[in-house]
Amino acid sequence: MKITEYIAVLRENVKQARNQGKTIVLIPTMGFLHYGHLSMVEAARQGDEEHERNYIVMSIFVNPLQFGPNEDYDRYPRDLIRDSRLAQEAGVDLLFVPSVQEMYPEGESLTTVNVTKVSAELCGAHRPGHFQGVATVVNKLFNIVLPDVAYFGQKDYQQFIVIKQMVKDLNIPLKIALMPTIREADGLALSSRNSYLNPEQRKQAPVLFNSLRNAAELIQAGERNPEVILNTIEQRIRNESDGQIEYIEIRKAENLEKVEKINGSVVIALAVHFGSTRLIDNIIVEV
Ligand code: AMP
Repeated sequence: MKITEYIAVLRENVKQARNQGKTIVLIPTMGFLHYGHLSMVEAARQGDEEHERNYIVMSIFVNPLQFGPNEDYDRYPRDLIRDSRLAQEAGVDLLFVPSVQEMYPEGESLTTVNVTKVSAELCGAHRPGHFQGVATVVNKLFNIVLPDVAYFGQKDYQQFIVIKQMVKDLNIPLKIALMPTIREADGLALSSRNSYLNPEQRKQAPVLFNSLRNAAELIQAGERNPEVILNTIEQRIRNESDGQIEYIEIRKAENLEKVEKINGSVVIALAVHFGSTRLIDNIIVEV
C-alpha cells in the first residue's frame, strides 16, 4: 500500500493505475477506522485479491469545513498508525492522508458546494453548514482522484442522498455505491464517535437500532401512520435510555421528502445525544 499526503503524488499513482486499465474506487473517510469503513474495502476487493481489477483509494481527512464551531473537530479521534495498518490489511492500494494545508492552502475555500433541499432538514437542520462542508470536500476529492466509483455507507444516509444529488446536478462522471451499515453484535452502528461513550451510555445506545427495527416490524405488520411509528420509537428511547432525542423522522428514501402515509420505500432516521456524543442511525423499510 502506498501512502501519501500530497495531491500530486496521488494523481501520479492513480494515473498509472488507470493506464493499466484498472477501475478507480474511492472510499472517503475521516479515519479512526472500524469495520464499517473496512467492509467497503472488502466489498471492492471481493474477487480481486490480486489487485488486478480495482485500484482502491481510501482518503482519511477530518474536514474542518463540515464541523460547526461547537462541534468535535478538535477532539475527533485520530490514529494514523493504526489506520494505515488496518487499511493495508484490508487491501487499500493508496491511502490519501492530506493535511488541512494541502486541502485548503488558503486556509479556507472561497468556493463551496451547496446542495439545497436534501441538505436542509434532518441532520442539516441541526448542523448548519455541515452538508455544505461535506459536499465541498467530497467534490474536491472527486476532482483530485477522478474515481470511476465512490462508496458511501448507509449509516450516513442523508450524506449519501446529498452526494448523489450533487453528482447528478453537476454531471460528475462517476458512480455512487451505497454500502450497508455495519453493526456491533447488539445492533449499535459502528462509528468512530462510539469511542466517546462511557460504559453506561454504551450499554444504552443499542436502543436506537432496536427501536428502529421494532418500527420496521410494525410497518411490515401493516401500520402506515408515521405519527404512530414515530411515537413508538420516541417512547422506547425515552424508556430505555437517558438519550436526548434531536430528531426522529420518516421520509421518502429516494429524496427525503416528507410522507403523510407510509408507502413505497421510506427511511426512518434519527439523531440522539448521549451526553455530549451525538449518534445517528436509520433503517430503510419497503412496503
Ligand atoms: P466517517 O469516517 O464516519 O466520515 O465515514 C466514512 C464513510 O464510512 C461514510 O461513507 C460512512 O457512511 C461510512 N460508514 C461509517 N460508519 C459506517 C458503518 N457502521 N457501516 C457502514 N458504513 C459506515
